[in-house]
Amino acid sequence: MEFDTPMFKMCVKQLETIAAKLEFDPQVIERLKLPKRAVIVTIPTRMDDGSVRVFAGYRVQHSLTAGPGKGGLRYHPDVNLGEVSALAMIMSWKCGLMDLPFGGAKGGVRCNPKELSIGELERMTRRFVQEIILVIGPHIDVMAPDVGTNEQVMAWIMDTYSMIVGHTATEIVTGKPVAIRGTRGRREATGRGVVYCIEEAAKEINLPLGKASVVIQGFGNVGSVVAKELHRRGCKIIAVADTSGGIYNAQGLDPADIKNYIMEHSLLEGYSNGDEISNEELLTLPCDILVPAAIELQITERNAAKLQCKILAEAANHPTSLEGDKILKQRDGIFLIPDILCNAGGVIVSYFEWVQDVQRYFWTAEEVDRQLQLIIKRAFHHVVKLSRDRKEDMRTAALMLGIERVATEKHIRGLYP
Ligand code: NAD
Repeated sequence: MEFDTPMFKMCVKQLETIAAKLEFDPQVIERLKLPKRAVIVTIPTRMDDGSVRVFAGYRVQHSLTAGPGKGGLRYHPDVNLGEVSALAMIMSWKCGLMDLPFGGAKGGVRCNPKELSIGELERMTRRFVQEIILVIGPHIDVMAPDVGTNEQVMAWIMDTYSMIVGHTATEIVTGKPVAIRGTRGRREATGRGVVYCIEEAAKEINLPLGKASVVIQGFGNVGSVVAKELHRRGCKIIAVADTSGGIYNAQGLDPADIKNYIMEHSLLEGYSNGDEISNEELLTLPCDILVPAAIELQITERNAAKLQCKILAEAANHPTSLEGDKILKQRDGIFLIPDILCNAGGVIVSYFEWVQDVQRYFWTAEEVDRQLQLIIKRAFHHVVKLSRDRKEDMRTAALMLGIERVATEKHIRGLYP
């Protein structure tokens, strides 16, 4: 079957497991196992040397029932239909859990953006937009940055779409530069959302946040904001890591100093205010709060039994493998904040960006932050309540809420024609 990759199969299996707990209309669940629409395009691109290369591009809309599709655009050599479709499905559950008026979508172009010049990237992006123009739109599908894409790519998409439709349509993408009507607070949104969840989790387990010790894997957009915000609240950041390895200091590290070092040297390697530590060692350090904020599949059957944290805040997407998750479920004493809840700050503030662009009315940074807190904390408490009431783990409860929201909308609207 077209979509059959290990990741897509895993997502379908997850949907089946959760649906069995919800006892929902099986026909609606059957519908949700496949995306509503998956578009494959080829993108001829003029390279700097005059030759033409043809790239494969995808846009998958898992569900458009709640509103326009919402989801990132990824530029990576491993992009394929199954992976993009799986990620679109997960976006549906995330938007459902946050109660946003969006369906789940995802896109990608199979390329290595590091090997392309700025000009090649721009030409490829603009042609991709032309190729998928019939299935995108501010009320059809709204893209955002993901792995390998950034604010500049979103600006090119917005410009290309606007040129084609004949008027400026800022609401066609989110994650744009603020100068062209992106929103204030988008860059910090995911990290701040993680911290709001951690604050609530700390209250749940009576952990005084001001005295908590924190370990963070990944010091990029998300990890660096989590470090800064937790440090500001008095937490002690005892270890951080990036691709080059980690640094440990029981007395506490200064996130601002680390950020300056990385800005100068690109990587953490050589940072001298602590002891070197491997990524593997870092994840199993004794600490109050562990934040995987790097890449997927870091907590697995190899290390899940050895984690020594009280709160596990999944800032990254899928930091825990299925086998790792099984082990965590059997363990007491770790409060899990699952990824679709923990890192939803990004999509929440993307929603605010779209609302502001549609209304042509722009909010202050304080307003963005206030509304972000409201939505993510509300979702957090819904998940905790369901987890208690139904005696389910936090990941299962979060998925139950997300899937139920999407399935309910489908059920009420009925089948057309
Ligand atoms: P980023 O590229 O800015 O930073 C990633 C960080 O992780 C870097 O410090 C990098 O060196 C480190 N890293 C990468 N591979 C590693 C490895 N094997 N071991 C240790 N460290 C490694 O990315 P980001 O935007 O901060 O995203 C981090 C995670 O959060 C990803 O899983 C992403 O999908 C997820 N996420 C991000 C957003 C967002 O708004 N940026 C939203 C939702 C989810």
